Amino acid sequence: MHNWLQGTRKCFKNWNSSSTAMEADIITEGFKASIEMHNLKYHRLIGDGDSSNMQRLPREMPYGADLPVQKVECMNHLLRTYISRLRDTARKPKNSQGAVPILLRKKVGDNLQRIRVAISAAVAYRRATTNSDKIKLLEEDIRKGTNHVFGDHEGCAEYFCKSPNEREENLFPQMRSCGLWVDIRYANSLLARHSPSLIQNVTNNVAESFNSLVAKYIGGKRINYCLRGSYQTRCEIATISFNSRYRLQNKIHSGLTNASPGKFTKINSKSLEKKALKRKSRQDFPSSFKRKQLQFDGPDEHYGQRDQNMEI
Ligand SMILES: [Zn+2]
Ligand SMILES: [Zn+2]
Repeated sequence: MHNWLQGTRKCFKNWNSSSTAMEADIITEGFKASIEMHNLKYHRLIGDGDSSNMQRLPREMPYGADLPVQKVECMNHLLRTYISRLRDTARKPKNSQGAVPILLRKKVGDNLQRIRVAISAAVAYRRATTNSDKIKLLEEDIRKGTNHVFGDHEGCAEYFCKSPNEREENLFPQMRSCGLWVDIRYANSLLARHSPSLIQNVTNNVAESFNSLVAKYIGGKRINYCLRGSYQTRCEIATISFNSRYRLQNKIHSGLTNASPGKFTKINSKSLEKKALKRKSRQDFPSSFKRKQLQFDGPDEHYGQRDQNMEI
């Protein structure tokens, strides 16, 4: 890839180092080529929690010291890591202080969704305010969020704790005495450290979905399609597919023949689009798409008499 910048020759094989180093190198090179290729400077990099290539770029400073590249973590990845850390805590029957009561662990497991929603709401609220300390305040909210969910409203911020339920049990003292709280607090502080990223409320969803399209066209890495520019071509197909959504065939057809595609191609792309829309609404409103439970009450009356003597 280094030759791309130095000369006009397209290079297909010139990497002799480890593949993990390759990723960091590709990203750095992409940033360095951004002005030449697109006349753009990228000042933010949205990462997916993999820190190795995130560390290198700010050091390299591809645009000089005047425009350092800011690294931001993807919000979805941060929340997912946080929730799965809490889920692991809920599954662990023992911690450093001894056994953890199953009832408390179950409480944690049952409230994961609520915790996630609470954090997202706190991010949205703090983001909308103009307070200059909002990152600090968000950090506080994240550290206090689990207290609120488990019934301890001592340090709750007013905006998310309007009318705490009077009959709600405060589980905080029990959780603290069995040491469960140590793990929860640890997860909280790991997330709270990323408040500067969270407050920007960005995700790398676009990159993820493009990446999955590339994976589709290169055959999911099962077969080595990467030789002699084949990878390049496949990525270009993925780009057309990404930009034209469900009309890939239409685009290619009209591009090659200068004529509109036929009836059946159009029907096909329509139905693809319909299916995708349905899938999306199924994801957004899962409850309205619940499958009917089939019930089986044994054979009906015409099926033949069940032989009573056969039963053991
Ligand atoms: Zn190269
Ligand atoms: Zn509260």
